[in-house]
This record gives sequence, C-alpha cells and structure tokens, in this order.
Amino acid sequence: MGSVFDRKDWGVGDAEWDDWHWQLRESWRTAQRVMDALGLRADSEVCRRYPMQATPYYLSLAQSLGVMDPILRQCVASEEELHGGMPDPFGEEAYSPVPRLVHRYPDRALFMTTSRCATHCRHCMRKRNWQCFDGKPSEDVLVAAVDYVSKHREIREILISGGDPLTLDDDDIAHVLKAFATVDHLEMLRIGSRVPVVMPQRLTDSLCEILGGCGKTVWLAAHFNHPAELSEESRLAVERLLRHGVPVVNQSVLLKGVNDDAETLRLLFTGLLKMKVKPYYLFHGDPIEGTMHFRTGVERGLELMAALRNRVSGMAMPAFSFDLPESGGKIRLEPGCELEKAGDGFAFTSFEGRRIIYR
Ligand code: SF4
Repeated sequence: MGSVFDRKDWGVGDAEWDDWHWQLRESWRTAQRVMDALGLRADSEVCRRYPMQATPYYLSLAQSLGVMDPILRQCVASEEELHGGMPDPFGEEAYSPVPRLVHRYPDRALFMTTSRCATHCRHCMRKRNWQCFDGKPSEDVLVAAVDYVSKHREIREILISGGDPLTLDDDDIAHVLKAFATVDHLEMLRIGSRVPVVMPQRLTDSLCEILGGCGKTVWLAAHFNHPAELSEESRLAVERLLRHGVPVVNQSVLLKGVNDDAETLRLLFTGLLKMKVKPYYLFHGDPIEGTMHFRTGVERGLELMAALRNRVSGMAMPAFSFDLPESGGKIRLEPGCELEKAGDGFAFTSFEGRRIIYR
C-alpha cells in the first residue's frame, strides 16, 4: 500500500529530505498539513494544550488518511486527550534533587537534556514538559547534575532523555556525554530517543561516532511501536549505530488502536530482531493526563503476551512491564501470572516491599 503523504508532496530533493535540520524545521508546518487534510483546527483546545508536531518523514509512513491509521493515531491530536489521568503520577518532580535530574532508583538517574522532540507522540509520558524548557541545558544546570552524580557513588547508569536528546546539535550532545563520562564510577550511559523512528536522518555517521566514542559504554533505547515504522531508513540508521559500537534495544508502549493485537506485535518484535534491535520492554500505558485513551488494561497486555509466547522465539519477547505509582518502581509480569484484584485495580508489591494498588 502506498503512503497518503508522499515525500514528493513536499517538493524537495534528496539533499533536503535526508537533512535532519530540514526535517525538524518542517515538522511544525507538516503538522498543519495533516490537520488541514483531516479537517482539524490548530486553535482547538487540545492543540493549544498539547501542540502537534510531526516530521515529514514520519508522516510519509502513514498509509491511510484516517485518525485510526497507526502512524496518524500516534501523532494527530484527539479530543480524547482532554479527559482523565494525572500530570506526574510517578512523582518524578519530587525526586529531582537538582534541575533536570531525577534520582528515583538507587543505581540509576535520569537527565532531561531538552524538552524538544522531532515529533510529538500523543501517548508521551512527559507531555507536561512539552512547553516547559526548550534547548540544551545551561552550563550551570549540567555542572550541578554531574556534581550530584559524582557525589552519589551508587549511581552506575545515567539515562539521557528529554524530550528527545538527539534533537540537540552534535556539539551539544558531545558536551553532555563527555561531562557525564568524567564520572569514574558511572558504568554506562543510556540514551532514550525516538529519533530512529521519527527522524532516522538524524543518525549521521558523525553523530554515531560521537555516541560510540564518548568514553563510556553507550546504549540506545529506541521506541518503535508499530511494524509500519520499520523502514529501510530506520534499518540503515540502526546499522550506523551498530557500526560505531552502540547497541540498540527497543521499548514499545502497548497502545489501544495502534498495536493492541497479537499479529501486529508479532510483526513488530520479529521485525525489530531482523533489524538487530532487541525488543526489551512492552510497557502498559501509564495513567498520565492526555494519554488515557491509549490504555488497554493490564489483563489485555497479559493475554497478548500469552498469545505471542508460542508463536515467536524467546529472543523476540520483550518484558511486559509498567511503573507503579507512589514511586514504587517497575513491575514485570509474565503471561499466566496471578493478579491480585483490589477494588477497581490490582495490588502489587514494590521493590521496597510496599503494597501498592495499580489502576
Ligand atoms: S519523542 Fe519521547 S519525549 Fe518526545 S513526545 Fe515522543 S515519547 Fe515524548
């Protein structure tokens, strides 16, 4: 099936299409284009609260002009975003000792480099930050974060996240990575990015060289959610990362109306393996404001995992997982496990031994 937004529609040659700066610059105008095509209003309440943005490349993966197209459903604003959920159910802000750093688990910390993204994913868990800060961290913010990590020898890993950290320029990314690489007790840096999915043009040889050569082991955690996202451009971007010594894993989110059926997940996970990307997590959707319409329920997730178990190799199976509220950490569930019903939710024991209800 052909794309409904053909790259020819943008009227540019390969040089511009393959230039990530052009993709990023065009992403706002492209959002306007899709809204016009679908008859949506840019000044609607949902667009004011959660603005739309999509790279031309990502939009060109859509195969039907309808809000239930799996690509469009992930990047087109919906009135459903205005209902339910909490802005920060995991209390990240309460665990932020210095700006942009979150230290919630003993051995890991998260550093938010920028709130900028190449495409605004409608299911994003940090929608609350989309309009907060923008560009690279100031020198003071970076120094304070590195200083905090230096003084906490129990931290072994930094998750470099955002927004999308790979929307920064090469020099700024190199500066952030090198600053953390000076901390002796850090063993690795993990970059969380959706760029391999929505703007693979960004993964140039020069950027991959920076990631692979920063002085620490760097892993990249990508975020593919649907087999339609496994393009040749993405495959080549993953190849460049691997060539520069950066292994790639994938964290998908189970999204109602996008990937909540066994055949779609089978094609996604086996397709990722073919691209040399290990499916690592399949997350159940968090109860976050603006994303509740994507949640399937934990039981549905377990049913899908059970349906997949005997159809794909163990290598292709990610861990089905979610975050507990009250900073209870991650829970991993195996298909066939017993769930303990508690009112309108389920009871789980956190990594610290607390009983927490998940709804
Ligand atoms: S790229 Fe990541 S941070 Fe940005 S909108 Fe998508 S999920 Fe959220």
